[in-house]
Amino acid sequence: MKLVKDANQIKEKKEVISDEQAEEAIKTIIQWIGEDPNREGLLSTPKRVIKAFKEYFQGYKQDPNKYLSKTFTEVDGYDDMVIEKNISLQSHCEHHMAPIIGVAHVAYIPSSKVVGLSKLARVVEVFSKRLQTQERLTMQIAKTIMDVLQPRGVAVTIDASHQCMTNRGIKKESATTVTNYFLGAFKDDLSFQNRYLRYINKD
Ligand SMILES: [Zn+2]
Repeated sequence: MKLVKDANQIKEKKEVISDEQAEEAIKTIIQWIGEDPNREGLLSTPKRVIKAFKEYFQGYKQDPNKYLSKTFTEVDGYDDMVIEKNISLQSHCEHHMAPIIGVAHVAYIPSSKVVGLSKLARVVEVFSKRLQTQERLTMQIAKTIMDVLQPRGVAVTIDASHQCMTNRGIKKESATTVTNYFLGAFKDDLSFQNRYLRYINKD
């Protein structure tokens, strides 16, 4: 008997979980916490939770590259950084499936291509709507923009609070986590990096 399933088999298995099965799992959890899933107020809860989960995790069905594919080559010689500050971010940690709430700042230095500004926020959104660690999320956003746009540099900062830390465990309500990821000129040239950090820390 084969003990280790290959990735395709696991993928197939993932695809056959129906909404009904997922609702059943939520019902089990409701019962497990000591509630009655047949109580009137809770009857439609599994359905609602599944609907909410579809939204929280819709990023698995989305391709971030798609949002960066429409570019403009007419930059009129603009060669400095473009910064999108304070992009609101809602994700879920992969360790507790608890919310991660915060902001992302994304910057790039165009070489020949620029994108519509909302597209940077879209990339943040796609990777956020998955189970994440903040470190991986920060890197994925930066690397995707680097790969697709091939700019001179990319910088991504995420400043977020993790509800698995603020609402449970050590209950540090005001603690936020800051992660940075620099590529290209932002990594190699500290003057770019310092200017970027100054801009994002300005109110
Ligand atoms: Zn967590």
